[in-house]
Order: sequence, then structure tokens, then C-alpha cells
Amino acid sequence: MLDFLREGVFPTKQSWKAIVKNTVDKVQTDEWTRRLHNDNNFSRFRSVHLSVRVPDFWKSSKSSREIVNSYYITKLLTDIPNTTGGTCELCNTQFLDVYVHACCSCSGTHLIRDMWWEFIMEKFPLHLFVELYSYDDEELYCILLGKHVTTSNIDTDSFHNLCHVHVAHCVAAYSRLLRTTIS
Ligand SMILES: [Zn+2]
Repeated sequence: MLDFLREGVFPTKQSWKAIVKNTVDKVQTDEWTRRLHNDNNFSRFRSVHLSVRVPDFWKSSKSSREIVNSYYITKLLTDIPNTTGGTCELCNTQFLDVYVHACCSCSGTHLIRDMWWEFIMEKFPLHLFVELYSYDDEELYCILLGKHVTTSNIDTDSFHNLCHVHVAHCVAAYSRLLRTTIS
């Protein structure tokens, strides 16, 4: 704006609109980045949600069922990561976050997990299996929620949808098993 005042030439309508849009975008992005990186409650959210734009997993959701799944995943993604932990009443092992435990390591949900691994091996390149298998539970959980994988040339939409269904299955099965164990 100062440049224009100095030079006495106002930009065209089109370039003025672009200048305003870019400036507003930059302010929003800076504020979003600052807020996310100054609060550890967003540690999981920011590892999946890399920019202020709509994340890929939302773009992968086409059917009404997939959209409902994405709503559910977003709810898990925006949960504050639990770092107080506890002991699982199903398998008697310790965990930091119950959702990570339910999806990635609890023996109570191992059949669902085995099916998911089989799907990964059958439907995707072996590189993806090797990559996923190398991660710890927290990292794998972030990928299940929508974090990018480094393996290229995969059907990302199918992968996101498969992961989201897997998370929903694990959480539902874990809750049901816990309820029947306690009652
Ligand atoms: Zn367990």
C-alpha cells in the first residue's frame, strides 16, 4: 500500500484483489502456525494437518459413509492426546493413550488389526507395509488418522478410507469388549 502511495499508481482491480487475498492468507497461516506450534495439545493434530488447507483425508471422502467416518476421525484428531496413561483392563498392559492402544497394540483388537495388515499387504505395494511396520504406535496412529506416508504411488483415497474404517472398528470393538469385561 505504501509503495502505491509513494508511486501514485494504484494497482488494477485484479491485482489488488490478489494482493489482498495473499496478505489475508499469509496472516491466517502465520496465526494458525503460531497457535499450533505453541501448544502441545495440538501435537497430534499438527502432525496430520500440515497446513491451513483442507486435509487430504477430507478430500478422499466421497460417499456419505466416508464423510461420516471423516467427522469421527476429525473428532479423534482434535482430542487432546492423553499422556497420563493407564492399564488396559483387557490385556493388562500399560498405555499412554487409550485410543492409540486400542488401535495399535491391544490384544483385544488383534483380529481386526491382523485383517487390516492383510489388506495392506494385498492391496498396496510392499513398500507401504515395510514403512508402516517400522513405526511406533503413536506414529502409526497418526497415519491411521491421516498423516502422510512417504511411500509413493499408492491409492491415497483408498488408504485413508481403509485406515478410518480400521480406527472406527478398533475403537468400537475395544469399547464393547471393555463393557462386557467390566459388567
Ligand atoms: Zn489392551
